[in-house]
Amino acid sequence: RVKLNIEEIRKEFPILDQEVHGKPLVYFDNAATTQKPRSVIQALTQYYTGYNANIHRGIHTLAEKATTAFEATREAVRDFLNAAEVEEVIFTHGTTEGINLVASSYGKENIKEGDEIIISAMEHHSNIVPWQILCQEKGAHLKVIPVNEAGEIIFEEYEKLLNEKTKIVSIVHVSNTLGTINPIKEVIQKAHDAGAVVLIDGAQASSHLELDVQDLDCDFYVFSMHKLYGPTGSGILYGKRALLEKMPPYKGGGEMIKEVTFEKTTYNDIPYKFEAGTPNIADVVAIKSALDFVQELGKENIAEHENKLLAYANQKLSQIPGLKFIGTAKEKVSVISFVMEGLHHFDIGQMLDARGVAVRTGHHCTQPLMQVYGIEGTVRASFSVYNTKQEIDIMVEGLEKVVKIIK
Ligand code: PMP
Repeated sequence: RVKLNIEEIRKEFPILDQEVHGKPLVYFDNAATTQKPRSVIQALTQYYTGYNANIHRGIHTLAEKATTAFEATREAVRDFLNAAEVEEVIFTHGTTEGINLVASSYGKENIKEGDEIIISAMEHHSNIVPWQILCQEKGAHLKVIPVNEAGEIIFEEYEKLLNEKTKIVSIVHVSNTLGTINPIKEVIQKAHDAGAVVLIDGAQASSHLELDVQDLDCDFYVFSMHKLYGPTGSGILYGKRALLEKMPPYKGGGEMIKEVTFEKTTYNDIPYKFEAGTPNIADVVAIKSALDFVQELGKENIAEHENKLLAYANQKLSQIPGLKFIGTAKEKVSVISFVMEGLHHFDIGQMLDARGVAVRTGHHCTQPLMQVYGIEGTVRASFSVYNTKQEIDIMVEGLEKVVKIIK
């Protein structure tokens, strides 16, 4: 492991060098989206200034260059996930689209009346609603693994929910609201024992944890590149070949076909079967730069820095009177949610913004989880590789001032 030079890393993120309300920007909204390093921004502009062309069909030089760059990203993602085959990597618009794709396509073929789908109480709306839609269509039932006060799934309750009717288990790897790391390897194993397939929502995990889809043995793994230093509107669906090959297309159009007549269409092989239409080529090309950025720093080094920030923030925040943490799981990434006595989370967010500190406030697209805790929302600070202890001090000072004002 090497200690990262955070000041040097910060220089790679041009957006950080600015003032908000006359104060240096402190960006603690990384769970919503991370900032982009110069190399990613450059990859976008290089594509548009140098070799913008549609992919796969053209035989001219620019089309070949664009296709090569596009497919080089697919291989980089395969390596990032340690997937067995490059065809198991499908480009999507993000986590939301990946889950909808599986719910629609796999769900259409494999779910019938009376079947059961299991999710957890800490899911993001994007890992709830697509399954509800599927259940409504098919007359299937959604079952929910409860969480304890610390914000961990209650594993015995999960085991009780599993039975021969369980067809899909879809669970978040890391909670965007609580930071909890779920024991997904065990979750997957139990689901497989019951004959169910498993989708993992890796939206928050991909930037913090080492991933190995073969070791996890998950059937589907989805994430968004914009939370991993990459462009918005780009994401990944990993699926096991055997499953993807049997699944019907999700969208129809160009690219996803082999041959079209008015009578009959034959579909392309994976991954193209699931990539209808012209994709966001520039963004996909830039994904490779984002993955290179992570690889060069080393994920374990990034995690070590983030975990130090988490420990420091936990210790500092715990000294603020009236502050209560929401989510105190043993296994956590650098996401902290809290509420404060006598203060609305929106007001806290606004007061911090006035000091240049960007945090998230509200339900974080996890309304059912807020109901579990009996609250409307939290303040969430989430740390990334470019954040510093000094920035945490600025946030803590801000919160201390707020407490003094209301006393
Ligand atoms: N799941 C989790 C855990 C998330 O944090 C998010 C983004 N907040 C999503 C799903 C949805 O991701 P996207 O909006 O990029 O599709």
